[in-house]
Amino acid sequence: MTYFFETYGCQMNTAESAALDLVCRERGWEKAPDGESADLVLLNTCSVRGTAEQRALGRLALYASLKKKRNAAGRPLVLVAAGCMAQRLGGSLMERFSVDHVMGTRSRSLFPRILEAAERGARGEAAAPLDPGEEPVFSFSSSHLEEGSFRSFIPIMHGCNNFCSYCIVPYVRGPEISRSPRDIINETNLVAEKGVREITLLGQNVNSYRWKGGDGFSSVDFPGLLRIIAGELDPRRRSPIRWVRFLSANPGDFSPETTRIMAENGIFCRHIHLPVQHGSNRILKAMNRRYTREQYLSLVSGIRRDMPGMTFSTDILVGFPGETGDDLEETLDLMNEVRFLYAYMYHYNPREGTAACNLPGRVAEDVKRERLSRVIALQKKHTSCLLESRIGFRERVLVEGISRKNADELISRTERDEMAAAPGKASLIGTFAELTLSGLAGNTFRARDLVSVE
Ligand code: SF4
Repeated sequence: MTYFFETYGCQMNTAESAALDLVCRERGWEKAPDGESADLVLLNTCSVRGTAEQRALGRLALYASLKKKRNAAGRPLVLVAAGCMAQRLGGSLMERFSVDHVMGTRSRSLFPRILEAAERGARGEAAAPLDPGEEPVFSFSSSHLEEGSFRSFIPIMHGCNNFCSYCIVPYVRGPEISRSPRDIINETNLVAEKGVREITLLGQNVNSYRWKGGDGFSSVDFPGLLRIIAGELDPRRRSPIRWVRFLSANPGDFSPETTRIMAENGIFCRHIHLPVQHGSNRILKAMNRRYTREQYLSLVSGIRRDMPGMTFSTDILVGFPGETGDDLEETLDLMNEVRFLYAYMYHYNPREGTAACNLPGRVAEDVKRERLSRVIALQKKHTSCLLESRIGFRERVLVEGISRKNADELISRTERDEMAAAPGKASLIGTFAELTLSGLAGNTFRARDLVSVE
């Protein structure tokens, strides 16, 4: 039996697709080269923006017509809709797109039964579709490692309780569930045995991680978890994992204790993705972000004081209902104060069911686009200035692979999440090395003297 996945959206979806991929492989299924030839196609969908849903619905329509042709030719195609849009639209996808199984964000543990039903169907045995309303107890998968990769996401929690007024995530992923530290350690050691060198602790809001006790642990918060991970990966224990990142952090919940643990342990990369969303206190309040621009700036300067050289990336949302030109100026001003290495920038689009969806003061589309282009232009300036200032530095990197642009060059990543291309032997891929940043091509460094440090 063969399978084919299409994964949309955030790193959480990427991690979950890797876990489902492992379930298929453990059952002896093989990856098909494309959806047209597969026995089962799964779309892991995203709902964060209307455009993301439109794209997934377009793909489902395409597979629905392929399914009709395949059924007529006696080669059935099993179609599965998973992820946030599947959670939001549920059984309606079965009527509209002949989807066989709808697997919401909390029912991934049903997947083996979906594969079993497909196997029975292939043997000509009857197999009832799963009830789209069925919602088993949520459970984390044991591994989220993509086959052959040396970097792995490790989900530490699921869901979000923050209810930022523009965000659909709490409605489609549900309340926060923190994963047992035991499970997180087990997965960390499991992927280490498979040659992983860098892990990213994953959650919609990792700073609100809270294990209430059990599994050999009393209550553990996020700094506590970082301390446990740092202990587990202590260099004296010779784990191959040398770099730890986390995603996504939330400024409103980022504690001084987290900064202290990071500063004490070099294993935590000197780069943080810290979504600010906006620079105006009035808009931050309307977004229900639960921090002010002053608190955000003080957090950043505190982290930089304790970890000099720390770089930041962020998310910026413009065009929120009620936003004025002055509000946008405050965002540009905040960007000038922090100077982010890079940012994900987008303009507001209403999501049905969120608190902001019916707020008055909608900003006109052309005004939203104009404001977004100003934010992008400023960020571009900061990114190239910050990268330019790094030329000449000798840097430790994780060698990721062969450059797509030049087969004689290897692409590497610094702990600050910068990319560099340098001549080197493929045997260095998946290992730590050092190089000298010698120039810039776009946002990728030209580099030389790539030498292994292992
Ligand atoms: S923290 Fe806010 S923006 Fe992030 S997932 Fe939760 S509700 Fe959405």
